[in-house]
Amino acid sequence: MLLTFVEAKERLHHAATVSIATKMVEHETIPIDEAVDRINAAPIISPIDVPVFDNSAMDGYAVRLSDLANPLPVAKAIFAGDDIKTLNWEKGSCLRIMTGAPVPSEADCVIMQEECEKTANGITFLGDLTKVKRGQNIRRAGEDVAKGSTLCPAGVKLTVPLLSTIATLGIANLTVYRPLKVALFSTGNELTPLGNPLPHSGAIYDSNRFTLKLLLKKLQCEVIDLGIIPDDLNKIKQTLIDASMSADLVITSGGVSVGDADYIKTALTELGKVEFWKIAIKPGKPFAFGHIGNALFCGLPGNPVSTLVTFYQLVQPLILTLSGLSDNEQNEQRELLTFQVKTATDLKKVVGRLDFQRGLLQTNGSGELEVTTTGAQGSHITHSVNSANCFIILEQERGAVKKGEWVTVELFNHLLS
Ligand code: AMP
Ligand code: MG
Repeated sequence: MLLTFVEAKERLHHAATVSIATKMVEHETIPIDEAVDRINAAPIISPIDVPVFDNSAMDGYAVRLSDLANPLPVAKAIFAGDDIKTLNWEKGSCLRIMTGAPVPSEADCVIMQEECEKTANGITFLGDLTKVKRGQNIRRAGEDVAKGSTLCPAGVKLTVPLLSTIATLGIANLTVYRPLKVALFSTGNELTPLGNPLPHSGAIYDSNRFTLKLLLKKLQCEVIDLGIIPDDLNKIKQTLIDASMSADLVITSGGVSVGDADYIKTALTELGKVEFWKIAIKPGKPFAFGHIGNALFCGLPGNPVSTLVTFYQLVQPLILTLSGLSDNEQNEQRELLTFQVKTATDLKKVVGRLDFQRGLLQTNGSGELEVTTTGAQGSHITHSVNSANCFIILEQERGAVKKGEWVTVELFNHLLS
């Protein structure tokens, strides 16, 4: 019996949780301008109120409601950046005030200048004075972020909007988890590095190592690239030993299936522990997971689509957990990207494995979302992924799907889009 996708994910998650608990993943402090997409390692508590002080949301006139009458003389002008500690504001007058300028505590509201007219005797308010409300156009201190409140817990990805709020607190440095060290190599006698002529008719380019490197960099990992290793058990074992000594996680591509030159599982068995091998998914059945020394190990199948799909569906959550991202954050993200739609095309499917077919989610002529297959779904057809924007996830026990049936789709996150 093959392991189900859900079981495989649970085993990966368990291993990641144990690994971070025993290793106590280190933290580092970095400048805020280098922190985008990193995971914060400590809760962020606001040292100040934001807005810092009550201030005007409009260019206009600050008034006391008890003084509201037409016309009202203008006593003074207050600009953004002014210090109003010593402001002396006579009763029976209003203040000219600019957006972002501090609002004195005696002011009840700000009336926008578009609703006022300057006259010889002061300001005439054009609107209905009975409708002027206390607090109108005043941005209160702390109404965005209150001093002492927790802006976010540890284990959250530092996105641009979050960093933008953190910047309003004046915080210049952040404590984040250190990047995960991932060692990577490809196996296969047929592989040629990019940029070189193919040496003979059986050779192909090592596209997977390039793909995996890009994906790892997007996940903020530090990549240790160990190149191409031929299909040779001893060479693979030696490289795995070297890799496991320098990395938190070792990833390989190819050689993990049942062919006569597939040495990854043997090497893993001899050097460490195989946690599981082979999952009931398509593409990506031959996927190996285990331990070598203190490092975790993922052996990805060599077919380019299988590499990409298993990385996305299995390795990505493992890396996110190892990188310190909380389960909450991960679940929320995935749920937001997953929904049910009707398929606009028939989908080939056989019972027995969970399929991650590639699709294009779009709106039809009636404005409804629907998904269309990207065509041939062979694990060597990279076009099936690069023309897609989502996975069509077809349950293990499901057979062929007819046009118009409901299917689950998972929109690609930033890793693939
Ligand atoms: P394997 O998993 O080693 O049995 O390889 C399965 C298929 O993927 C074969 O057609 C390989 O030539 C191809 N393949 C293996 N490694 C790579 C790689 N690094 N880049 C592109 N294709 C690969
Ligand atoms: Mg191979």
